[in-house]
Amino acid sequence: MSVNSDITKVKGVGPAAKELLEKLGIFDIETLLLHYPRDWEDRSRPLALMDWKLGKVCTEITVVSQKWFGFGKTRTLKVYIEDESNKVFGTPACLVCFNRSFLQKTLVSGKRFRLYGSFIPRYGEIQSTSFELEAADERGSSALGAILPVYPLTSGLNQNALRKIMSNAVKEFAPNIKDELPLEIIKRYGFLHKADAIKALHFPSSFDELGKAKMTIIYEELFSFQMMIALRSQERKNAIRPGRDIASDGSLTPLQQRLVERLPFKLTAGQLTSIMEMNRDMDGKYQMARLLQGDVGSGKTLVSFLAALKTIEKGAQAVLMAPTELLARQHGDNAAKLLEPIGIRIAYLSGNLKSAGRGQLLKALAAGEIDMLVGTHALFSKDVVYKNLRFVAVDEQHRFGVLQRKAIMDKGGEIPPDFLMMSATPIPQSLALTVFGDLDVSVIKDMPPGRKAIKTHLASESNANKVYDFVRRELNAGRQAYFVYPLINGGDDEDDADDSELKNAVSMADKLSKEIFPGIKLGLLHSKVEDESKRKIMEAFHNGDIKILAATSVVEVGVDVPNASCMVIEHAERFGLAALHQLRGRVGRGSDQSYCFLVYSGKLTEDAKLRLKIMLENNDGFVIAEEDLKLRGPGHIAGIEQSGYLKFGMADLVLDKDVLAQARQDALEMILTTNTKYSTI
Ligand code: ADP
Ligand code: MG
Repeated sequence: MSVNSDITKVKGVGPAAKELLEKLGIFDIETLLLHYPRDWEDRSRPLALMDWKLGKVCTEITVVSQKWFGFGKTRTLKVYIEDESNKVFGTPACLVCFNRSFLQKTLVSGKRFRLYGSFIPRYGEIQSTSFELEAADERGSSALGAILPVYPLTSGLNQNALRKIMSNAVKEFAPNIKDELPLEIIKRYGFLHKADAIKALHFPSSFDELGKAKMTIIYEELFSFQMMIALRSQERKNAIRPGRDIASDGSLTPLQQRLVERLPFKLTAGQLTSIMEMNRDMDGKYQMARLLQGDVGSGKTLVSFLAALKTIEKGAQAVLMAPTELLARQHGDNAAKLLEPIGIRIAYLSGNLKSAGRGQLLKALAAGEIDMLVGTHALFSKDVVYKNLRFVAVDEQHRFGVLQRKAIMDKGGEIPPDFLMMSATPIPQSLALTVFGDLDVSVIKDMPPGRKAIKTHLASESNANKVYDFVRRELNAGRQAYFVYPLINGGDDEDDADDSELKNAVSMADKLSKEIFPGIKLGLLHSKVEDESKRKIMEAFHNGDIKILAATSVVEVGVDVPNASCMVIEHAERFGLAALHQLRGRVGRGSDQSYCFLVYSGKLTEDAKLRLKIMLENNDGFVIAEEDLKLRGPGHIAGIEQSGYLKFGMADLVLDKDVLAQARQDALEMILTTNTKYSTI
């Protein structure tokens, strides 16, 4: 039977379990087998009850007696147990079965079980409330003396149940798994065959074997990834664009020049270099695929408009895609303001656009009556058809998966559109090559002139009033301010319960407008605000009708209001470096001096102190990214890991960067020396 079979083909998986597994993203046997443990428990070393202080007890016990305590609903079962070590002199040991009264039937005196659990001393005895048991005569998958997998779970599905399911699946289906790595590579590095590696990941016979299995899978993931990148770049070199291959110095086209002349400022050197690099790409015979990196505020959007003009000038269509409605709308407005006066037909496609308007827009698009379309993912919905899409710009690329790129490219029909990714996430050099190996890179290093460096101040919550006073003076001078909070509202966020003490956007918006800044217009923005209201609020803030924007980190990405001179981040200790930097980048966009206040509360952890210190001392996004990398250790590159971009099952781009480099080399070699047809995803 194949691993793509329905999940109910696995012994022990009925409709109920199927539903639970689907919640974990497991839909067939293959995805089940790829649901790797997040940890492994070493039950290969026994630990007697007497030695409970040394760690988790792992021993064979006999039930001595049962007792109940508490009344009514809180009545709780207590089961006394013994093993060889505490039989005669030992401290009495018991299992406290909160909400597990059903154990009354199984844990009867004289019965023997294997036990795994931690104990704490209480009332002259040692007690365990979290423990696992299995009948001593049961030879299941979870035996004492084994290394046991610990899986990510979902409510309703416990470790033991999933272990049983997995054990059945591994036994029956793992042997059918074929190697993906070439045999020669498996031999070269002493890897396991994939079937054995999968088996060993779930139920390793030793830590040595587990290590080998991990290595095999990590390498395989990175090798496939590198293979895909290499093939994609090869594909690009094969897809020759008709009518191109012009000797080009990249200088501005007439239409680009017209836009530049109309701007109230000059392009920065970085902007000019980038656009010239793109012009050269787009005159060349291959499809352009370029990553444009530049810190927040460096003016990437304008560069993407300029690049789009080159395409539009030739009578083809361009799109600009943004990760949020808010940002897409802003880009749309900007495009209209800058490009419509030079005769470009701009449209904005929102995910919310209802049937009538949408139908009309799509018709115009298919007829080629729209030159440039701005929007979110909606741009690539099935029913959106372009007449001749030849240029695609994607803002803040890390929010989009690699996979989506194909959907985008396919909208070009026969000819893949030129492709531009923009990112403010500084990616360390060493990784850029391997992660974006098929892309050319342009970097804008300079900021538009006349920008004053943002002044950053730290304030404890007890001094918040001083911050408010300062902001009031700025507001009175005609400027605007952001207030950012870690939570939307008090109770119902998904975070920990202790978050109730945190200030939140909803209640602070109320307090700011009623008590702190009465009479000054304020808007509230967070992810639960409807798109249409979001748009209105943003528009009002942009026009200056609203002076204060209270928000969660939704304002993190891209939002641009040059007149806003104050960014107040409350509970700044709660934000990561990347978020703090992105938030701070919302101000300092005009010619006025701007300020960022990091208001912290409570006792700071060492980590939080360091983060705030780094923010105080640095303005350069690349430096902050490097510091972030050092602080949070490998595996957490801002914007990549946390956004789910490039998520691997087992591999970690930073932690495994040596493997990544090796896999890259091997993949390139393979492509050069063989004609193996690997398919791209
Ligand atoms: P990014 O997307 O790189 O963070 P934006 O494209 O939002 O930055 O640009 C930030 C602001 O800078 C915008 O208001 C834009 O009009 C302005 N801007 C862009 N280029 C220049 C320039 N060369 N000189 C002055 N201002 C510029
Ligand atoms: Mg931007």
